[in-house]
Amino acid sequence: MKFKCLIILLILSLGCLQPLDNPQTLPENSIQNFKIQICLINWKENSLNKTTQELIQIAEKIQKFYKEISYEKVNLQFEYKNAQSNSTGTTVNEMLELAYSSCNPSRDTHALIFYPTQINSSNEQELGFIESTFTHRNKISNTDIIQVPEGKLNYLTLAHELGHGLFNFEHPVTLHCGAKVFSETNCETADYGNPFDFMSSGTGHVNAWDKYKAGWSEIKTVTENGNYVISALETKEEKIKGLRVPNSKHPLCLEYRKPIGLDQEIIDNDKQPLPETGCLLVSLCYTENQEYNPGHQNLLLYTDQNPEAKQENHCIKENEKFTDTDLGVSIEFDSLENNQAQVTVEFEN
Ligand SMILES: [Zn+2]
Repeated sequence: MKFKCLIILLILSLGCLQPLDNPQTLPENSIQNFKIQICLINWKENSLNKTTQELIQIAEKIQKFYKEISYEKVNLQFEYKNAQSNSTGTTVNEMLELAYSSCNPSRDTHALIFYPTQINSSNEQELGFIESTFTHRNKISNTDIIQVPEGKLNYLTLAHELGHGLFNFEHPVTLHCGAKVFSETNCETADYGNPFDFMSSGTGHVNAWDKYKAGWSEIKTVTENGNYVISALETKEEKIKGLRVPNSKHPLCLEYRKPIGLDQEIIDNDKQPLPETGCLLVSLCYTENQEYNPGHQNLLLYTDQNPEAKQENHCIKENEKFTDTDLGVSIEFDSLENNQAQVTVEFEN
């Protein structure tokens, strides 16, 4: 991916090092192709419990998943390999090097997923170390390497790791500010608290802000009171998938979510699916506030501060007015035909 950035920088003078409010610019109707190798390794002391056929089924699900969330702008091409390693490493780095040389991916491979992680049964501490590095990214040359321990091979986890490796997605966290939706102080983030996003604890699409940064959709900036139309994040017909409300230091991102496609599986923190008429999610989307947004993440706000609620709720339902004096804005929406919503934004003076 670094290599890709360099090429983009050289050719377009527009690269991945630009501030994050500049998205990747993809030509109209272009498709991003990524080559990924899934390598089944027979380590010296381990026996394999999976077959290539099982890997193919998982890869096909990941392929479909990215096609849907990118509005068919991403095409993942998988290749499969069986490899044998005659030695065992004693550290994670040695294991990665061994996996890389055993699987021997071609130079244009964007990601190497190897399975299983080598298990050194004689050293439990080492095993714990290897397990805990599962979700971390490792790079050898330009290839992102994802190691999958025995028993943890599933399409959603691999799709998540590829989100980090191929698209630089961070975890879209939730922001908790005590009894307030937002405050300048006393907020904490929860890394896996967002049930609406597969880069957090969810199963569904990635948020509108990340899709915008990846170049898959557009965001409209709103600076005046008014009604604005956006389409449901899950639909591919219309391009504008979010509103960005540059609210002084804390710009907000709004997106409209409906139970369509992958998002039919979403179950929120209150164990509820997305309402049929959809809901609006409000996040801090900008990177200026380093205190709350050091990792350039999307920060989902807890918009329902109802003390009766059993669980935190982030979903603004149709005709529910969300007002917050700290953020200086109120927001509500009506659902329209064709999976669109008319969002009313009012700023406080
Ligand atoms: Zn992650």
